[in-house]
Amino acid sequence: MSQYDVAIIGSGPGGYVAAIRCAQLGMKTAIIEKYSTLGGTCLNVGCIPSKALLDSSHHFEDAVKHFDAHGIEISGEVKVDLEKMIARKQGVVDQTTKGIEFLMDKNKIEVFEGVGSFKDATHINIKKADESTDTIEAKNTIIATGSKPSTLPFIKLDKEKIITSTEALKLKEVPKHLIIIGGGVIGLELGQVYKRLGADVTVVEYMDRIIPTMDGALSKELTKVLKKQKVKFALSHKVKSVERIGDEVIVKADDKKGQEVEFKGDYCLVAVGRRPFTEGLNAEAAGVKIDERGKIEVNDHLQTSASNIYAIGDVIRGAMLAHKAEEEGTLVAEQLAGQKPHIDYNLIPGVVYTWPEVAAVGKTEEELKEAGVAYKSGQFPMRALGRSRASMDLDGFVKILADKETDEVLGVHMIGARCADLIAEAVTAMEFRASAEDISRMSHAHPTFAEAVKEAALAATEDRALHV
Ligand code: FAD
Repeated sequence: MSQYDVAIIGSGPGGYVAAIRCAQLGMKTAIIEKYSTLGGTCLNVGCIPSKALLDSSHHFEDAVKHFDAHGIEISGEVKVDLEKMIARKQGVVDQTTKGIEFLMDKNKIEVFEGVGSFKDATHINIKKADESTDTIEAKNTIIATGSKPSTLPFIKLDKEKIITSTEALKLKEVPKHLIIIGGGVIGLELGQVYKRLGADVTVVEYMDRIIPTMDGALSKELTKVLKKQKVKFALSHKVKSVERIGDEVIVKADDKKGQEVEFKGDYCLVAVGRRPFTEGLNAEAAGVKIDERGKIEVNDHLQTSASNIYAIGDVIRGAMLAHKAEEEGTLVAEQLAGQKPHIDYNLIPGVVYTWPEVAAVGKTEEELKEAGVAYKSGQFPMRALGRSRASMDLDGFVKILADKETDEVLGVHMIGARCADLIAEAVTAMEFRASAEDISRMSHAHPTFAEAVKEAALAATEDRALHV
C-alpha cells in the first residue's frame, strides 16, 4: 500500500494549492480528485469560465453600444455566435486545468482519480470509474471537497430550463427572459452575461437589496447601474414556487406586502448560494464531525475533530471564495511543516466581476455602526478621474472608512472600472495597518483608476480630495 505524509481530497484551489505547498516543504503528497480534470469548481464551473463569458459578452456589448462613440464603425450587424463563445470559454478552462496537471507533475505530487472516502483516520479508499478501489495510507489528510450549488426545497432543478450556475455556463441559446433567483455575486455576474447577449433579465431577491453582505452604498450604486443597463429587480420578494410548463418557466413570489407576483420566462437560474459538499467522504469513519449545516467543524488551526485531519475552503466556515481556500491550503501545509502561519480573515477581499466591478475589504459601514466604532469616511467618484473620462467608464466610487481617532483604515469599498484589481492596494495597506493619510501621501500614477483610492484617502483624512 502506498504511504504518504499527506493526502488531499479534492483538487480545487484549496486542495491543489495545499498539495503544491506540502510538496514544496518536502512532504510526500497525494491528491485525490473524483473528476477527470483537476481544479475543482473554480477552474471548471466557477471563477474561470464565468470570467471568460463576462469578458466575451463585454466585448460584444462594447461593439454594439460603445464603439460608435469611440469613432469605430462596423459595417453590418454585430452578432453573437453563442456556440463559439462557449467553446472559447471551454478552451480557457481546458488550458487552465491542464496547467494544474503540469504543476502536480512538476512538484512530484501523485494524482489519484476517483472518489476518496475514509476507511479510518489514516487510510483512504479511492473508488475509481471502473469500480475498482485503491487504498492509500496517509499520516495527515486535508479535506478540500468544496461545495455544490444549493437550491430551495420546493424547486425541482431540471437542469434544462430550471438551472444552476453550472448549466448557465454552457447554454445552447440566449434566453429570451432569464429569471434569476438570488441577487448575490453568481446571479448578478451570469445575469449580466446574458443581459449583454440580448436576454431580458429579472433578478428576484428575498432581501431588500442585492449583494446584501457588502456595504450598503455598493448595493445601491450597483443596483442603479444595472437598472440603467435594463436589468429588472424584484427586491424583498419571497419565491414560493418555480414551475416549468413546456418551454415556459413560471416563478411565483410574495412581495413585501404579501401579494403574489408572477414572473414568466424561458429560463430560471437558481443562484441562492452553495452548500458544503461531503457526500461519499465517509467522514464518520475517521471521527471527523460535520455540523448541522453540513460544514466540517474545524478549530483555529483548521484541524477537524480528528487530530491528523484538516479541512479547508468551501467545505468549512467562512466566505466561499477561491483565494480564501488557497490561503487555508497554504496555512495547513505550513503548520504541518512546523511553521506558524496566520490568516487575517478580515482582510480577505470580496469581488463582484460585473462591469463596473465591485470590490471590498475590511469592515462595512453597517458593521462599524453596529460595533459602535467611531469612524470617518472619504469617498471619491470615478467620474472625476481623467482615466475614467478617457475610457468612458464613469460609474462608481471609492469609499474609505478610517478610525476617527487613529486614522487607521478599517474598510475600503469600491465600485468602478478595474476595481477587482484596485482592491489589492487596499489589502496591502490594511495588512500594514496603514492610515488614510499614509495612502493619501503615496504617489499614484496618472492617469489611472487607482487615483480614486488616493483621492478617497485624501477625502477621509481631512476632506482634502483634490479633484472634486
Ligand atoms: P472546489 O473548488 O469546490 O473543489 C472541490 C473538489 O473536490 C472538486 O473538484 C470535487 O470534485 C472534489 N471532491 C469532492 N468530494 C470528493 C471526494 N470524496 N473525492 C475526490 N474528490 C472530491 N470564487 C472567487 O474567489 N472568485 C470568483 O470569481 C468566483 N466565481 C465563481 C463563479 C461561480 C459560477 C461559482 C459557482 C463559484 C465561484 N467562486 C468564485 C467560488 C469558488 O469557485 C469556490 O470558492 C472555490 O472553488 C472553493 O474551492 P475549494 O478548493 O474549497 O473547493
